[in-house]
Amino acid sequence: MVGVQTSRPAGGLRLFGIEIRVRVSWLIIALLIAWSLAAGSFPEIYRGLPASSYWTMAILSVLGLAISIILHELAHSLVAHAFGLSIDRITLFLFGGAAELREEPKTARAELSMAVAGPALSLVLSLLLALAAGALDSRGGSAEIVGALGYLATLNLALAVFNMAPAFPMDGGRVLRALIWMGTGDLDRATRIAARLGEGFAVLLILTGLGMALLGAIAGGLWWVLMGLFLRMAARSSVFEAKARRVLKGYAASEVMEAGLKALPGDMTVDDFVDRGLYAGQHGIYPVTINGSAVGVVEAANILATPKGRWGETTLAEICAPMGQAVATERDEDANALLDRMMRDKRNRLLVLDHGKPVGVVTLHALLERLELADPFQRAGIGKP
Ligand SMILES: [Zn+2]
Repeated sequence: MVGVQTSRPAGGLRLFGIEIRVRVSWLIIALLIAWSLAAGSFPEIYRGLPASSYWTMAILSVLGLAISIILHELAHSLVAHAFGLSIDRITLFLFGGAAELREEPKTARAELSMAVAGPALSLVLSLLLALAAGALDSRGGSAEIVGALGYLATLNLALAVFNMAPAFPMDGGRVLRALIWMGTGDLDRATRIAARLGEGFAVLLILTGLGMALLGAIAGGLWWVLMGLFLRMAARSSVFEAKARRVLKGYAASEVMEAGLKALPGDMTVDDFVDRGLYAGQHGIYPVTINGSAVGVVEAANILATPKGRWGETTLAEICAPMGQAVATERDEDANALLDRMMRDKRNRLLVLDHGKPVGVVTLHALLERLELADPFQRAGIGKP
C-alpha cells in the first residue's frame, strides 16, 4: 500500500535512506498473530510436535511477515525513487505496511510501475519461499523451519492477491487509476472512479467482518471491520485530495488569505487580552509586535498554557510562539502545499508573511469552504486555468 500517515511512531531504523517505523498497533497485532499460530493453526497442520516447536515456528513466521511487508513496501519505494518521487518512510501499523509518498505520481506510467512493484515482489517472494520450503523438506530439514517457510509463502501470495483488489488507495486501485488515467488523460476522473470502487470494496470488507463476528470469529471479524472503515476513510480522503489539487492549483497563499490583520503590542498583558475578548476575534491568531516589528504569534493555546494566576503580570511578548515555519507562511507559497502542510501538522490557521511582515491569515476553514464553493464552477470549466 502507498499512502499517508501522521501519528507518532514506536521506534525506527533506516534502509536505502528510508526510515522504517513500527507502530505499537503493529506490535500488538504481531503478538496476536504469533499466539493464534502457536496455539491454533500450527498444532492443527503439523500434528505431534512439542509446544516449543509451534512457538518457534510462530515467532519465525511473524518476523518473516514483518520482513515480507517491509520488502513489499521497499519495492514500491525504490520504484518511486526511480521516477523521482520521494518516500519519507515505511510504516508498519495495524493493517500492515504503508510507504509514505510525499507527493502524488506525476505520470500514469510512474503510478502504474510504482503500484505494481509491491505485489510483484510479494508474488516472487512467495514462489521462492515455497521452493525453499519444498527443497528443505525433501532433504529432511527441520520441521519448524519448513513450516514457517510454507506459511510465509502462503502469506506473501495472500499479500500480493489482496493488495491487487481494484480498490483505491490499495495497490490494485492505483493500478486501475493509472490505467484509466492513461486511457482518458483525466487524473481527477480516474481518481473518482478508483476511489468509488475502493469505497465499495471497503463496505464488502465491513460486511464480511460482521458476518465473521456473527459466526463466532469475533477478533478476526472486528479486524476486517476496522480494515474496511480505514479503507473507506482513505478512499474518501483521496477524492478530497484530488479535488483540492484541482481547485487550488495555481493559487498562492496571498490569494486565499484573509487580509486586514490586527497586530497586538508585545507589552499587552494576558489579562487585557482576555478581558477584551480578543481570543474570539481575528481567526484566533495575532502577530505580536515590539516597536512595530513582528516578533511572534499568539493563539488560544499560548494563553491557555499560562497559569491563570499569572495573567495579570504576563505579557504577550513573553508567551508568544516565535515567528517561523510552524506558525507562518510566505505570501507566494502554493495553496496546495499550504493545505497539505496544515492537514499534516494539524494546524487550523497560519499567518501569511510578506518579507517577514504579517499581511493576512489563511484558515483551514476558509480553504475548505473555497473548495466546496469553487468545485462546481471548476468542473464546468470556469476558474483559474
Ligand atoms: Zn503495496
